[in-house]
Amino acid sequence: MITLQGKGVSAGIAIGRLVYLDRNAFVIEKKPVTDTAGEIERFHAARISAMEQLDTLANSMKEKLGEEHALLFEIHRMMLEDTDFIDPIIKIIETERICAEYAVNAASSRLAQDFAEMDDEYMSARAVDVVDIAKRIIGILSGTQQDVTSGEKAILASDDFSPSETAQFDRSKVLALVSQAGAANSHTAIFARTMGIPAIIGLGASLSPGLAGKEAALDGETGAIYIEPDAATRAALSEKKDKLRSIKEDLERFRGKKTLTRAGRALNLYANIGSVADVEAALAGDAEGIGLFRSEFLYLGREDYPDENIQYESYKKVAESMGGKQVIIRTLDIGADKQADYFNLPHEENPAMGMRAIRICLTRPPLFKTQLRAIYRASAHGNVAIMFPMISSVGELKQAKAIAAEVRAELEQAKIPFNPDVPVGIMVETPASVIISDLLAAEADFFSIGTNDLTQYTLAVDRQNEAISAFCDTHHEAILRMIRMTVENAHKAGIWCGICGSLGADMTLTKIFI
Ligand code: PEP
Ligand code: MG
Repeated sequence: MITLQGKGVSAGIAIGRLVYLDRNAFVIEKKPVTDTAGEIERFHAARISAMEQLDTLANSMKEKLGEEHALLFEIHRMMLEDTDFIDPIIKIIETERICAEYAVNAASSRLAQDFAEMDDEYMSARAVDVVDIAKRIIGILSGTQQDVTSGEKAILASDDFSPSETAQFDRSKVLALVSQAGAANSHTAIFARTMGIPAIIGLGASLSPGLAGKEAALDGETGAIYIEPDAATRAALSEKKDKLRSIKEDLERFRGKKTLTRAGRALNLYANIGSVADVEAALAGDAEGIGLFRSEFLYLGREDYPDENIQYESYKKVAESMGGKQVIIRTLDIGADKQADYFNLPHEENPAMGMRAIRICLTRPPLFKTQLRAIYRASAHGNVAIMFPMISSVGELKQAKAIAAEVRAELEQAKIPFNPDVPVGIMVETPASVIISDLLAAEADFFSIGTNDLTQYTLAVDRQNEAISAFCDTHHEAILRMIRMTVENAHKAGIWCGICGSLGADMTLTKIFI
């Protein structure tokens, strides 16, 4: 048994096989072949098996997350039938008399390059897809495929996971996430917690690709992972798992009851979600509402912008599923670590302080209006609220509200039903917004403190940078004072203030917050 120690960022016990998502695994040899016809057959067999995988993925995405999430896989499937993709591969096998793996790699690299050089933004973005489908076929041909969304449930390991990658995982197949890198406040960690999947980050090089296929057991609370665990370790972890289950069962007696302090003060205990699929867990946890719907996850792992209807369907589904409980939809918070190629965001030296969140929305009004229209339309089906992220000035808030007012006027004119009184609040997650929270409170219907970004910007600690995690003191007095100041200014103005950042779930602070 080998024990590796990392940082536990999402509690829970997992025992299972380790699947390693190794991005550097594709070392492709230029092997000569004599039977070129046989090699072409091998290529076609791999291509057909890739198409079958993509069908399965598209169907499961459709079922679990909705039509829009299946689109990427459908596009990939179509590309695999395209002669522009197939013919050059066959030609290389025939003329150069080399193996299919090499031919697929060579032909698709050229094709990807051609796409990348196209002036049309949509077409140039297709380069990524060519690389993706080529990898899938090479993986099948070489037997090194790491299709993490098919097969048995497994513990997923990698150097790191990007938010768009995690957004695409089939959560029913992932027992736990473990990574070499990663920071506790990264969206990957947050995503794991939202999905209720145990996660350990910061394992370093000790979590090597050579561990792929081995049995492992882990504790997402302590951050320990045991490779080929001995019987005693397995038994101890199974026992802890049972204990955690019984604590959960014990909490059942509070189901359906109001959240009250001992003194009888009522609090709203809401859940955060990143997709329609997360509602199930929120309801299972008896959430009294959704305090933060990270709508940007609808935009991640896609080929192109989700249109108004796709968004409307998602927001409506969440609003309806919550059955009248409040659903606070945060408008698009893309940028920084959450990247989608089709936004074509410029390379930035400092993306966390760059073009992200409300800044993108205010500079691209049509994009913002599409989302707001979808949210307002969904407001006819439930108890919806709108929340703007990353606000740092009254001017920004007024501008965002003016665009929302335009959207309402347009819907009214088109006689499309919506709730005209949807509350419009803001996330307080920049030090500037805390300092002017008295002024912002006059313009907002509610505040919700984003402690993840507030910590990053206040303490000047990049939330993605694990090397400085020792400096990331989320309980820093500066943060606590800022929370107090924000709450006091909210209450003075007669509006409510919540916490939607991770500190809201930090039970060591619950008493202080109350
Ligand atoms: C936050 O910053 O605290 C927050 C809730 O938003 P996100 O983590 O998505 O940036
Ligand atoms: Mg934030």
